[in-house]
Amino acid sequence: MDEQAGEGCEQSKPQVERTSFQLFKIENITVVRPPLLKVYYWEYLDVDKFNAKIAEGQQCIEHNFVIPTSQLNSKPLKIVCWLKNMSKEKLTLQLKRIKNCDCVLKQTRVGFNQFRYLYHCPHRYLVNITQEMIVMNADDLVAMSVIAYFYLFGTYVLTFEMKTSDSRTILMHFHINVVAFDPVDCILTHELIPVNIKDFQRVAQPIWICNKTMQSIQVLFKGRERGFRLINPNLVVPLLSVWPLIVEYRPSEFENHVINR
Ligand SMILES: [Zn+2]
Repeated sequence: MDEQAGEGCEQSKPQVERTSFQLFKIENITVVRPPLLKVYYWEYLDVDKFNAKIAEGQQCIEHNFVIPTSQLNSKPLKIVCWLKNMSKEKLTLQLKRIKNCDCVLKQTRVGFNQFRYLYHCPHRYLVNITQEMIVMNADDLVAMSVIAYFYLFGTYVLTFEMKTSDSRTILMHFHINVVAFDPVDCILTHELIPVNIKDFQRVAQPIWICNKTMQSIQVLFKGRERGFRLINPNLVVPLLSVWPLIVEYRPSEFENHVINR
């Protein structure tokens, strides 16, 4: 992931190897009403690697925080990162968003006969860190809240710069992937198992329904074909799982029925 990072640290001051930087780390994370287990977020965000980079003692650090793929217009995701100051001195972190997109300044009316050149970045609010400054005394544990919003379709990288009071620069690249929900993509089974017309029994078969989203989906299926009955048309498919829609099927004539894709 590191290769696809946005703006690097190269433009800033030359790197100075020092081992005397104050040590801190993300000790824990809290995810507010998470659709997934916390351990998944820990791994997606690769917190262990972030901590390892800080411990290495480089002046300039970059890290990619990957937010799990989310559905368009799903609920915002709030992650609280608990930062622990492991040094014996006060440490201050200053946070700001860094523009890393190709958007250009546009002349914008800001009042009667008043114009200013402003960016109209539609994606700028996809990730928000509420604090601009975090002050940590020795051994303090302080919360940094990161909220991801999913109001735009597509993949984005939003970068925040964290400047420490001992002159380190930490670039945090948040990767967001927002997908649109398409019910047709959820249907994995497109052909039923052939049924012998001489068998007069109905044969129950599964049509597999896949939910790749982070929220459980309630689906209602309707089918009116002759010889075709849905056993569980009211189906709740939990997040990130595959469930069977059971159909009973007995053909009355030789024919290939195709399930609409
Ligand atoms: Zn932009």
